[in-house]
Amino acid sequence: MITHKNISVFFIFLLLFLFVLKADKGINELWFFIVIVPFIAINIYGTSRISSNYIIKAFCNNPSETEKKIALTFDDGPSIYTLEVLELLKKYDAKATFFCIGKNIEKHPEILKQVIAEGHLVGNHSYSHSKFFDFYTEPTIRKELQKTDQLLEKFTSKKINFFRPPYGVTTPSIGRALKITGHKVIGWNIRSLDGGTTNQELILNRIKKRVCPGGIVLLHDTAPHSVLVLEQFLQFLQQNNYEVVSVEELLKLNAYEFERG
Ligand SMILES: [Zn+2]
Repeated sequence: MITHKNISVFFIFLLLFLFVLKADKGINELWFFIVIVPFIAINIYGTSRISSNYIIKAFCNNPSETEKKIALTFDDGPSIYTLEVLELLKKYDAKATFFCIGKNIEKHPEILKQVIAEGHLVGNHSYSHSKFFDFYTEPTIRKELQKTDQLLEKFTSKKINFFRPPYGVTTPSIGRALKITGHKVIGWNIRSLDGGTTNQELILNRIKKRVCPGGIVLLHDTAPHSVLVLEQFLQFLQQNNYEVVSVEELLKLNAYEFERG
């Protein structure tokens, strides 16, 4: 299996072999370049693609699901738009999972309370969602995760099990932090890209095309255009007899581990 560990070991041996050849036969230094470039390329691909399982196993869909079941996930809230998302989910009798940012929970605790009261699941999406999150060291990442867990657990009274890395990037430091915190990484296989464009038609066509049994859709509850897309998407799912289920049900994984006394 292509993992960060296997690839690193392979390339270290390859480099050692080249050093021996260089000392023994005086080979051209260009060979080192030829070996290092693909190593960097594999690492960029593996860390930026959550479904690659390069650093850590990420649950991105349920490939064995044959029934028309799909899960919706909302990142980066809670925000004022979360309330409109909740309204729509109620209207279409759909349950979703919200990956919350710690600092946004501090801003809108009452909205998070409502999310949970209405039967949706919540997961950890870091405390700061910093642009530099991928460059953080393991202790900093761990502190971010633990701080956000504490904020969420005030409302769930149960240990948070799901984590979604900001931007879907997983680094060796994130991998090491997750080994300690024990979170399960939840990815997606249907990305709306609603954070990159406000063009509703573009977003809607993109996600409609990718709908499949066992899929996990990534949306955001932070902007008005995402809410407008959601209404049309829920209509589409209903017309096509899709059942919107929780990530927990779709993946057969627990979102929370145990009740806190
Ligand atoms: Zn995010």
